[in-house]
Amino acid sequence: MLIVMRPDGTSADLDAVLRHLECHGLAGSARTVSGCHVVAVDLPAGVPAPGAIDALPGVERVVLLRPRHPRAARGARPERTVVEVGGARVGGGGVTVLAGPCAVEGEDALEALAVRLRDAGADVLRGGAFKPRSSPYAFQGLGVRGLEILGRVGRRVGLPVVTEAIDEASLEAAAEHADLVQIGARNMQNYALLKRAGRIPRPVLLKRGMSATLEDLLLSAEYVLDAGNPRVVLCERGIRTFSDHSRYTLDLAIVPAVHERSHLPILVDPSHATGLRARVVPMALAAAAAGADGVLLEVHPDPPSALSDARQAIVPEEFAALTEVLRSLAALRATSREALT
Ligand code: PEP
Ligand code: MN
Repeated sequence: MLIVMRPDGTSADLDAVLRHLECHGLAGSARTVSGCHVVAVDLPAGVPAPGAIDALPGVERVVLLRPRHPRAARGARPERTVVEVGGARVGGGGVTVLAGPCAVEGEDALEALAVRLRDAGADVLRGGAFKPRSSPYAFQGLGVRGLEILGRVGRRVGLPVVTEAIDEASLEAAAEHADLVQIGARNMQNYALLKRAGRIPRPVLLKRGMSATLEDLLLSAEYVLDAGNPRVVLCERGIRTFSDHSRYTLDLAIVPAVHERSHLPILVDPSHATGLRARVVPMALAAAAAGADGVLLEVHPDPPSALSDARQAIVPEEFAALTEVLRSLAALRATSREALT
């Protein structure tokens, strides 16, 4: 860690910083660089930086030389993490396709859709049973009955399933019925829930909050990893910006940034990011071209009748055409990886 003092910081300020470090059992070595005092501190691995240093008088800034999320950081593992979801894999170079309706609406309809998705190449079936809706009057999902339907349909069609948990009770229930448990954008910083997700025997799909930075996302992943669950998949699903031509702004540049800073795989969800059916296919293709480890897509046989997120669902025919191109892109990526990196 480096502590940079302000140009007008006094020797008394510097002494106070050195004494503060001593109180925390740390030794600082001070020198002057370009007229400013700089204090270098050797922080042993696993020891957090004392929090209050940058509040001391005369301190300009504190530079941490190690990431704040050691378990999620790229350097934590020599190999990238590949997360097994039932028989599917996320990470390792392919483009995994997770698809299904926004919400589980009924068993027969879900099964008919799941068969079409599976035949078109979906790897994982999605379906929300506990829906975090902006309005308390909107469809909230079928709850545990929805989870049971999703689990049964997944087993019958032979696809692993993913569903969202919104609190501690739904987390335990989701872990019982699903192969992958999603923590949604609104709960990305629900730290109590993240700690609990670190103790379930299922991999976790962690979506980026709509106003979270990459560092915030990796720190949230760190909660799950630190609590003992190494199987975390990240997901970019759009952030709030001043653009008003789509529901959120899909921040695709986070894909190479995650691969640079973390060993965890990252999916892209163009459905929630754009909120508009016509934007989903182009942005799914762009995600695969950007190196995403997979895509999360909302598909409905009759979007206008969907009980939630009707405007963004693509239809099974569009999905089938898209997965064909995604497969070609995945193959192209595999052959051109060396040339491009
Ligand atoms: C979802 O995937 O069903 C969902 C609600 O997504 P998000 O948390 O990204 O809004
Ligand atoms: Mn949705």
